[in-house]
Order: sequence, then C-alpha cells, then structure tokens
Amino acid sequence: MPEKLKVPSEGSPIVLKNGKLVIPDRPIIPFIEGDGIGPDIWRAAQLVFDAAVAKAYSGSKKIAWMEIYAGEKAKKLYNEWLPAETVEAIRSYYIAIKGPLTTPIGGGFRSLNVTLRQVLNLYACIRPVKYYQGVPSPVKNPEKMNVIVFRENTEDVYSGIEWAMGSPEAKKVIDYLNKEFKTHIPQDAGIGIKPISKTASQNLVRKAIEYLKQHNRASLTLVHKGNIMKYTEGAFKEWGYELANDQYAGQFITENELWERYRGNAPQDKKVIKDRIADNMLQQILTRTDEYDVIATPNLNGDYLSDACAAQVGGLGMAPGANIGDYHGLFEATHGTAPKYAGQDKVNPSSVILSGVLMLQYLQWTKAADLIEAAIEKTIMKKQVTYDLARQLEGKVKPLKTSEFGQAIVDNF
Ligand code: NAP
Repeated sequence: MPEKLKVPSEGSPIVLKNGKLVIPDRPIIPFIEGDGIGPDIWRAAQLVFDAAVAKAYSGSKKIAWMEIYAGEKAKKLYNEWLPAETVEAIRSYYIAIKGPLTTPIGGGFRSLNVTLRQVLNLYACIRPVKYYQGVPSPVKNPEKMNVIVFRENTEDVYSGIEWAMGSPEAKKVIDYLNKEFKTHIPQDAGIGIKPISKTASQNLVRKAIEYLKQHNRASLTLVHKGNIMKYTEGAFKEWGYELANDQYAGQFITENELWERYRGNAPQDKKVIKDRIADNMLQQILTRTDEYDVIATPNLNGDYLSDACAAQVGGLGMAPGANIGDYHGLFEATHGTAPKYAGQDKVNPSSVILSGVLMLQYLQWTKAADLIEAAIEKTIMKKQVTYDLARQLEGKVKPLKTSEFGQAIVDNF
C-alpha cells in the first residue's frame, strides 16, 4: 500500500499482457511535478494534455493523473530525495512523466535522474530533435534538422564509479594498475571508470533499429569515439554493426554499398547503416544536417550531441526526452530546474509538453499527440511565445507567461 500516494479512483493501471502494454481508456499515469520551474511548466503542460485528449477522443479517453514525489517536494514530505514508493509507482504503472529535479550538491550524492534511469533499467534515452516553423534559430536552414538521438542511459562514465584524488580507493586502484599493468598513473589523479557492455550497447541499438523500421526512417548512424577508446566506444560500434548483420540480416546496407552498388540511392527495402567519430559528428550535424536521421550512441556522446542538435532548433526549452526500457517509459523535460526563474510563470513549457507528445505516441494516442504538435507550431508562428523565443525573434515581441502560452496552445487546437 502506498504511504503518501493517492491512487485516483476513476482510473485503472496499464498492464503488461503477452509482452505488450495494454492501455485502458482511463490509464493511471504518475507524474513528478519537479523542482524550480517544475510546478510552472507542469501546470501549463497538464492543461494542454487534458484538453488535447478530451478534444481528440470526445471524452471517451482521459488520463487519471497520480502525483508522485521526488526532489525537494519529496524531501519535505518523506525526508528523502527519492522515496522507494516513487520508484515502485513508476515500476508498477509502467509510464510516467516528470519535470526537472535539483541535483543536491554534496559529497556522495548522485543525480536523481541518473538513479531513476539506472534502477528502472531505462536503458534508452530518446531525444527527437526537429524544427517547428516559426522557432527562431541561429542557423540558416533549421528545417534540415530532423534526427532522433538514441543515447545509452545506464553506463559509460555515468555509471557513478569514481574516486576523488587522494582517496584511499583511488590510491588502491592507482597502485594496483601501476604495479600489475605497468601503467604510469600519477598519484594525484582522480579515477573514473567507463564500462560499456555488449548487452547494454545492443539493447540500445536494437531500440534504435526498431524505431527506424516502425517509423520508416532512412538511416542509422552509430556515433562513437573508438579511434581513442577502442574497447569501449570502438566496441560499441562493432556490436552495433554485428547486431544489424545478425538480427536484421539483409535489411541494411553500408555506406560503401550505398555508393558502390546503388549509386547513392538506397533501394526501398534497405536501410543505410553508417558510423561517425563523435568529434566529426558534432561538426557534421551542423554542416550536413540532413544526412542524419536515427542516431545511436553511448551515454556521454549522446548528452553532448542532443544538446548541440537542440541548439539549432530553439534550444533546451523546446527539446523533449524519453527514457525507455523494455516496457517502461519515463518522459521528461531535458532542461534543468532553472532556479532563478522558479515561481515566476515565465519559462517555456514546450520541453515538457513535447515530452508529453512522445508519451501520447507511446500510448498510441496519436490523435491527441498530433493535435498538440500542430497547435504548438501554430502558436509559435503567431509569435505567441515565452521570453526565451521572444528575445530571439525579429522585431518587438511581447512575451507570454508560461500559463498564457499553455492556454494559447489550447486555443489553437
Ligand atoms: P537549467 O536549469 O537547464 O537552466 C539553464 C538555462 O537554460 C536557464 O537559465 C535558461 O536560460 C535556460 N532554460 C532552461 N529551461 C528553460 C525553459 N523551460 N524555458 C526557457 N529557458 C530555459 O540548467 P542549470 O542552471 O545548469 O541547472 C539547474 C539545476 O537543474 C541543477 O540542480 C541541475 O542539476 C538540474 N538539472 C536537472 C535536469 C533534469 O532534471 N533532467 C537536467 C539538467 C539539470 P536563460 O538564463 O538564458 O534564460
């Protein structure tokens, strides 16, 4: 029995049956409001979700929201940052959505977001980045951006295995490596471990390939830094190709084959698989943007790359994200808590709203998802925008508040 959670009486849980999620018409969906600007953006987002679902399905479907707690609100309520029943609620209800959470600063504290992803084994972080008309951009052709970044979410340097310079653990590891493997690590080095496994890498690449097939996208790019880190990043690339060859035999062609056998035009029944070194990819995504489509990459590269992509099409206030496991999905705004704007009803709620669009697509409530996407575009085209976009638009544009922007989206359905 949950201690502090109130399970809504009018809803029923999503269940797993024969390897598939069964979505009732009134699914219970847990949400974490988030810290800082979280309450402001969540209020606007919930208004938009409820109105879209009501309009799309004329009242026959409705989300039964259930508040769960993490971050500062949980600290006040439970005296814990991430209560066990919050994690359990996401585990048992399968799908949840969250605002940003503060990472408390202090020794030994791990990010709540990273912890949630690891304990629920949400191994794929999915960030679609595309252009919405009317959004101001620092590049000439922002419409060329339309990628889905699949970022491995549980390992790499995010596994949290690190020791401070001078600590007994760091000293022990340094002494062991210097003695047993004749390395020359200085005594005043901090130590971090970067595990990248075949299982997690292939789980991620499989998700990316399934997405590519389901949405009929043209290519998969494996982004890695294998020229330097051969047995982690380089292995990620090899395992990606191996999976495509073994489990999707005959469905992919390499870039060489594309040019040598097909003169640059892939046949209808084939997808292209290619790879790029991470540093090159960061320039390619700017200079040859439309040559990229679905991207799969280890954790740290994915972090850098998804923000770099988002910068071309409106920045973090516009960038949605989803953390997905075999069945579970935790949808979240990709920006942080922006504490200086907390409670001002000022910031852009589009990141959490577009994360909700991903969630509605995951529920297969695509009519509601499409309604929101189209209305956001229409709202921005009319220059009804929050401060972050207003300051980038030509001419004097009076910014809307967060709540006014949410209402404007609903009015533009
Ligand atoms: P941040 O909260 O993302 O804010 C950085 C800047 O990005 C803001 O000052 C603002 O820029 C812009 N911004 C962010 N959200 C916006 C929105 N909705 N609308 C418009 N502009 C927006 O990053 P931070 O200040 O580095 O981090 C603050 C806290 O958030 C930290 O505790 C960090 O650990 C946490 N964090 C949480 C998550 C998460 O929960 N997933 C992710 C990242 C960070 P301007 O000042 O230019 O207006």
